Amino acid sequence: MRQEWHHFRYPGPEIGEPVSEESLGLDHWRELPRAQVPPFPDQVAVDGVMEVLNLVPPIVAPYEVDQLRDRLALVADGKAFLLQGGDCAETFADNTEAHLLANARTLLQMAVVLTYGASLPVVKVGRVAGQYTKPRSSPTDALGLPAYRGDLINSLDTTPEARVADPQRMIRAYANASSAMNMLRAYLGGGMADLHAVHDWNKDFVRTSAAGQRYEAIGREIDRALGFMQACGVQDNEELRRVTLYCSHEALALEYERPLTRIVGDKAYGLSGHFLWIGERTRQLDHAHIDYISRIANPIGVKLGPGTSPETAIELCEKLNPQNIPGRLTLISRMGNGKVRDVLPSIVEKVTAAGCRVVWQCDPMHGNTVESSNGYKTRHFDRIVDEVLGYFEVHRQLGTHPGGLHVELTGEDVTECLGGAQAIVDEDLPDRYETACDPRLNTQQSLELAFLVAEMLRG
Ligand code: PEP
Ligand code: MN
Repeated sequence: MRQEWHHFRYPGPEIGEPVSEESLGLDHWRELPRAQVPPFPDQVAVDGVMEVLNLVPPIVAPYEVDQLRDRLALVADGKAFLLQGGDCAETFADNTEAHLLANARTLLQMAVVLTYGASLPVVKVGRVAGQYTKPRSSPTDALGLPAYRGDLINSLDTTPEARVADPQRMIRAYANASSAMNMLRAYLGGGMADLHAVHDWNKDFVRTSAAGQRYEAIGREIDRALGFMQACGVQDNEELRRVTLYCSHEALALEYERPLTRIVGDKAYGLSGHFLWIGERTRQLDHAHIDYISRIANPIGVKLGPGTSPETAIELCEKLNPQNIPGRLTLISRMGNGKVRDVLPSIVEKVTAAGCRVVWQCDPMHGNTVESSNGYKTRHFDRIVDEVLGYFEVHRQLGTHPGGLHVELTGEDVTECLGGAQAIVDEDLPDRYETACDPRLNTQQSLELAFLVAEMLRG
């Protein structure tokens, strides 16, 4: 399909003898059943776009992907914590400097609090630079229009024309993803993420938020810790001024993922993002998505809903991580707060007993989605906190490492999730309900969650 383009050395570990795309089976998924197929009307047009994407530069570099897998190996070993978050669905319209920075800033603020709470390094991963596709439970929406499937596929506008799947959108998604990543790399490498600056933002939160008082103690402790580091002369360390934010998205549109998959030596890398995951609706063992993702070397994740049996979890580990490489596979449980304490223990117990090395991550969002009295898709902050609490309880009981969090958030003052210290109620939801898909925690709710989790981590 593609010429031997990779003849240069790239920075990273030793690479093996070059292999072909065929021998890696990168197109085997095409022969398999597949859920959530984007309804592109014209295959010739899709093929044309894939030809274009075959030749574009990748969004991320293979050595970065390897580095993230190594960092996640530390998470699997209980020596680091994973924080992943961002929009449910990124949109082209919101791919702005302001939005990207607000989301990154919120994630970094949470990370500082969690670093302190866990006394562990926090690996930071955005749902960003490619989170442009959505699986849908119904092919039509409430208006009877074809469902919105993410900006990579169709438009959120509510006309029949806007909802026609258009493969050209994959090129726009690529352009938006690469410009987002370019901006984030530059800003985060240039001092925006300075630890002291991030802590100052957190102090503002503690001072101004209704929940703030409760977190004053932790805020003061972090202050003292930073003062101590400064007294030791650590403040000039470049490490404290720079942050690595990895990017991630759901690998749903295989028409986008496949051409951005590139061979380096004897391995294939999905270079549309550092971390790719398979959603709850597309994780059938013998289907296309699991087959595709099993063949790339990236760190990957799989969502596990409340219907997951321990046997299925083990089969996924065997299929996706046959060599049992730590950091390769993250199991993302999203059970709902009412089920996490019942369903998660036997999964964790049996996967551990089978010897599978995974990162255990908690997504407290997707099992807790409800419709408000006035018709908004929402989630209550208390249920989100309770699912995280249940997840920590399960891991504490089993002696396993609660490796991380996966949340939908935005660094803006939206009103999409209920509760929190702002006590958002159903009637407030219309004020600033701006998500293109699922309800996100707003800035304050996100920070509140981070402080609560820091309290849980300290036991
Ligand atoms: C998501 O992460 O936005 C999502 C659709 O999750 P899930 O596959 O867990 O439903
Ligand atoms: Mn979502």
